[in-house]
Parts: sequence; structure tokens; C-alpha cells
Amino acid sequence: MRIVQKYGGSSVADLERLGQVAERIAGFAREGHELAVVVSAMGNTTNELLALARETTSAPDRRELDMLISVGERISMALLAMKLKEMGVDARSLTGSQSGIITDEAHADARVVEVRPARVDDLLSQGKVVIVAGFQGVSRTREVTTLGRGGSDTTAVVLAAALKADYCEICSDVDGVWSADPRVVPTAARIDELSLAEGLALARGGAKVLFEDALRYARDQGVTLRATATTGPGAGTRLVAGSQARSGAVAVTADTQLLAIDVGEADEHAMVEALADSGARLRRRVGSVLHVDLRNAHSGVALPRGATALGPIGVVTAVGTALGESPTLQLQASQALGDIALLARGASGDAAWWQVPIDRIDEATCAIHDAIVPTTE
Ligand code: ASP
Ligand code: MG
Repeated sequence: MRIVQKYGGSSVADLERLGQVAERIAGFAREGHELAVVVSAMGNTTNELLALARETTSAPDRRELDMLISVGERISMALLAMKLKEMGVDARSLTGSQSGIITDEAHADARVVEVRPARVDDLLSQGKVVIVAGFQGVSRTREVTTLGRGGSDTTAVVLAAALKADYCEICSDVDGVWSADPRVVPTAARIDELSLAEGLALARGGAKVLFEDALRYARDQGVTLRATATTGPGAGTRLVAGSQARSGAVAVTADTQLLAIDVGEADEHAMVEALADSGARLRRRVGSVLHVDLRNAHSGVALPRGATALGPIGVVTAVGTALGESPTLQLQASQALGDIALLARGASGDAAWWQVPIDRIDEATCAIHDAIVPTTE
């Protein structure tokens, strides 16, 4: 089989873990599979590089930022290839650019526009294990770009599609996708199978298990994904095309990295442009208030005149096929909030959301989870 695997930052956090990943890869290679492996930066490397930039200047230039933060994944790719060679596995590392990942020009949050997999394809046909630096590509003007935080997932999915891989495996320290973060919700359970659309709605709601762009791409290209643990016997989660029949919600997630902005008298066009320029993502609009995801706005957002930042907010999102069209389930969840103030709510497609006071977000997540996610026996 032809397989694309991706190993997250915690799976390659130190040389010992990198060695375990190399063993796992060698196992697949020995079974005769063709293997392209995408790696994230080791542990906290990306955060450390971003911190260095912020110590240097309060508003780092986004092109230079990409030159800096793309380095993390190159460290992992080279070390992993060295380790594999030492173990007798014929491995070769490639940067995103060398792997043919072509993106738009949006530094720090670029979209993949084309993949030219010829070089990876050739190396695979020669029996080599190809190690690709995740999270990065090259623009048509030959600038190094990065794909947004969590973007190594995107690298894996776009390569899987371009290489016509049998499946794409996303390996991390968590065994698959859970119905909620088990550190927050004690009753959370692992999900066996999830539709790619549900996975996307979950990622858009702030779940960190898989990156939203990767899921959107997988859904559009019909790439089958498996989310599994790097070590241990876990069964993981299959993410598949098509929709799943559900009697309730399948998962609940919380987002506390959103900023509320009142558009006020500001020019609508200037507002949208300011968000796009900064790498911020617009989640939704509620009346005159925007909910904006700032994860990739490393230099802040310059708001147009008339707009006001209202501050960080907390939003709980529940996901399940057609949940957005089930007022009964939504009401059940709202009622479960009890004395937690409901500041705003809404629903569409496979998702429904509730804005609650940010200091009660964990309680709200538990309440909504236990109200509308059926327990699996
Ligand atoms: N290293 C990058 C990040 O921390 C990309 C990734 O891990 O997927 O966001
Ligand atoms: Mg990730």
C-alpha cells in the first residue's frame, strides 16, 4: 500500500521519541509499504521561534516570520532521516518546497493551491521512505510560506491526495478523536468513526486534534483519514466521506482563543481586509459583532476606524450530522447550562454553538456534552 503518515510535535519532542517514531516507520517499510512521512516541529519549537521573533520586534514582518518558523519542521525531518538511515532504512528528507507544495502568498496562514508530487513520487518508486517537513510550502513568487498553526496536517492530506495514497494516518500522543477533551470532560469517550464534515466542524469549533484546512481538503478530495496514537495499541478514529446517522451530537469542543470585535461604524470592506491582512480568521458574525480567531495573527490586527475590540470570549461548539437543524437537541443543550449565562448562540449545518462567560467554559462544555452526546456502551 501507499501510505502517508504524519507525526505531531509531541511524538517527536525529543530524540528518544523520535527514535520510537523511526522504529514505527521502519516496521511499515519492512512490510513493503510505500511511505511518505510528514513531520511537525519538535515539541514546543514553533512557539519558541515565535517568542524569539516577538522579543526581536513587536510586529514581526510576516515573510521573515515564515523564514523563521519553517525551520522547526526542517530540524525534525533531517534528524528523522538520519535516524532511519542509521537503522538501515533508505530514507530521504525534503522541505515543503522540494516536495512541490505550492501555496498562495498569505504568509503565516497560506493556502495550498497546487501540489506537484513528481519528486516524492519518484523517490517512493525507488523504494525510499520520504520524510517531508510539514507546515510549509513555497509561493509562486518562490517565497517560503507556512500553512497556519497545526498546518503539518494539511501537508499530509494534500500529499496523500496528490500521491493517490490508500490512506493518510495522523499520529499524535492522543488515540484518535474524542467526544470532548477528557481532561475537561470525565465522561468523554473515543469516537470510532466520524464524517470528514463533522471533523471539519469540530476543528472550526477550536478542537486541536486535526487542523481545519486539512479536514476541508480531505473532505473535498475524498481522502480517508485515520487519527491514531503514535505509541500503544489504540484503535484510533476513522474519518470518512459521507454522513453518519446520529441520534445526538458526536462531540463537543471549546474555544477560548476568539476575540469579539464590534464592527460599529467601521467600513465593512476595510474590516474584512484588515482581518485577511493579519492572518485572523472570521468565525461568524452575530449582529454587529464578529467572532475572530487570532491563532495565526502573530502581529495583531489593525482595526479600521470605528471598530472596537470587545475582548476574548468563550464559545462551546457541539457537532453531529445535521445538529444545526435539530432545535430539540439545541434546546436540551441550552437548558443543561443551568445558571451559566448564555450570552449568544447559533447553529448551522453540522454544528451548534453557545457563547458563555469565558471563566465558566469548562463547566459549560461538560454540561452540553453530557446533555446531548449519547454514551456509548
Ligand atoms: N509546528 C507547527 C505548529 O506548531 C505546525 C504543526 O505542528 O502542525 O503549529
Ligand atoms: Mg496538530
